[in-house]
This record gives sequence, structure tokens and C-alpha cells, in this order.
Amino acid sequence: MSEVSVTKDAAPVANALVALSGVNKHFGALHVLQDIDLTISRGEVVVVIGPSGSGKSTLCRTVNRLETIDSGSITIDGKPLPQEGKELARLRADVGMVFQSFNLFAHKTVLENVMLGQTKVRKTDKKAAEEKARTLLDRVGVGAQADKYPAQLSGGQQQRVAIARALAMDPKVMLFDEPTSALDPEMINEVLEVMQQLARDGMTMVVVTHEMGFARSAANRVVFMADGRIVEEAEPEQFFNNPRSDRAKDFLSKIL
Ligand code: ADP
Ligand code: MG
Repeated sequence: MSEVSVTKDAAPVANALVALSGVNKHFGALHVLQDIDLTISRGEVVVVIGPSGSGKSTLCRTVNRLETIDSGSITIDGKPLPQEGKELARLRADVGMVFQSFNLFAHKTVLENVMLGQTKVRKTDKKAAEEKARTLLDRVGVGAQADKYPAQLSGGQQQRVAIARALAMDPKVMLFDEPTSALDPEMINEVLEVMQQLARDGMTMVVVTHEMGFARSAANRVVFMADGRIVEEAEPEQFFNNPRSDRAKDFLSKIL
């Protein structure tokens, strides 16, 4: 493998699906995102790692506008993020997000959870939405749970439903924010396997995770954040075997 790191400059801009340029974000006095430049190409899998509090979640949340930014720009498919209304709802459908806490609707069945966005945002008719929901639930291995309520499922099953729900919107990109951090250890792999399959199928993905095995096998690029900055980006082999920055070396020595 080449020693040359894959940086945003290496990605052909024409193929950029998500592009952050000079993004800054404060929470009061805290400068939580500092001059973030990040370009994600179509079909690319980017794993974001870094210490707690480094801004990884905030970075994800700015991309589907759960957080506003103070300066800089974010584009999806070359278009700036919409500010409000139907356009914003559509953006959130285009940018699928899976959180640490599964965030399913507790009072809706699994099937209804996966149908809801389709009928409400994409205006898919009910029959087609149900068919698609069942197909996706089968694909993530929880087809048999369709008529249950989220609380009746294990954490791993709930997280796979959350993935199916995001996929039902035909997202352009999927953001995963520590999707396995709240899971019992024996359920982590069943979720990572679904994510691995998505990556192989060509989904564009941004994954915040501490699962370094996943990063090594699925990521095209690792982005290391500390103190609100992107400190280093590289192919996984290079990053894990030969990190350049002291911050990354220190972080890896604590987790590996
Ligand atoms: P990470 O996901 O890397 O752990 P976060 O993006 O969650 O980091 O948080 C980065 C920093 O911003 C932390 O210091 C956190 O306490 C702070 N922060 C996050 N969200 C808010 C908020 N809504 N209001 C104030 N501070 C916040
Ligand atoms: Mg976080």
C-alpha cells in the first residue's frame, strides 16, 4: 500500500457528495468545530475517531443541520443545506442518521417505524412503503420482529431497525454516531455486520466509532479529531500502523 495519505485533495471534487469547507461552530465560549475542511466522495466510507468531547457528534449533527454553523459552508451534492421547511425535512431524509440511542418511536411498531418517513416525507403510498419496509427489515435480519414494539426487541435488533428506517428514505449518505456504544458486547457484531454489508453495497458513510476492527476493514479513510480540529486523515493501514501526530499516537496507545 502506498505511503501517501488519502486527503480531501485526493478525492476528485466532481465526485464530492458531502463537502465541508472552513466550518466553525461555537457553543458559547467553546470553539467546538475549528476550520473543518472535509470532502466525502460518493461511495466512500469515512470513519471518524478521536477523544470524547473532540466534536465528532457535533460534526455529524451539522451535516443534517441538527446544529447550525457559525461560518463556512456545507454542501450535499453541490447544494448548500436548506434552512427550513420541507426542504429541510428532505435533507434529513437524504442524510440518514443513526444514533447511539436507537431513537425509535416507542409507541409505533417496528414496521410502522420504517414506514413513517416514507409516507410522510417521501409521500410513498402505504402499500409500497410497507413492502419496502419489510424488504429492508429482512435485509437487516429483523423481518420476524415487524409487528413488535421497539421495547420488545434487543438493543442490537433496535439498532438494526433504526438502520432500516434510515435506509427506507433512500439516503444519499448515512451518518452513524457511535452506533454500537450503547450495546451489550454480544450485540455489537450483528450491527457492525449490517454496516459492513452497506459499505460493500457502495453506500456513502460517515461512521463515528471506537470499533477499530470496523475502521480497519470497512473504512477508505480515517479522520482523527481532537479539540474541534481534524488533526490527521489517512488510509486505515497507515493511520493505525504509522500515525503521524502526537495526539493520534497518544489516543491510539490508550485504546489499542
Ligand atoms: P464528541 O462526540 O467527540 O464526544 P461532541 O461533539 O459531543 O464531542 O462535543 C464537543 C464539545 O461540545 C464537548 O465539550 C461538549 O460538552 C460540547 N457540547 C456538545 N453539545 C453541546 C451543546 N448543545 N451545548 C453546549 N456544549 C455542547
Ligand atoms: Mg459523540
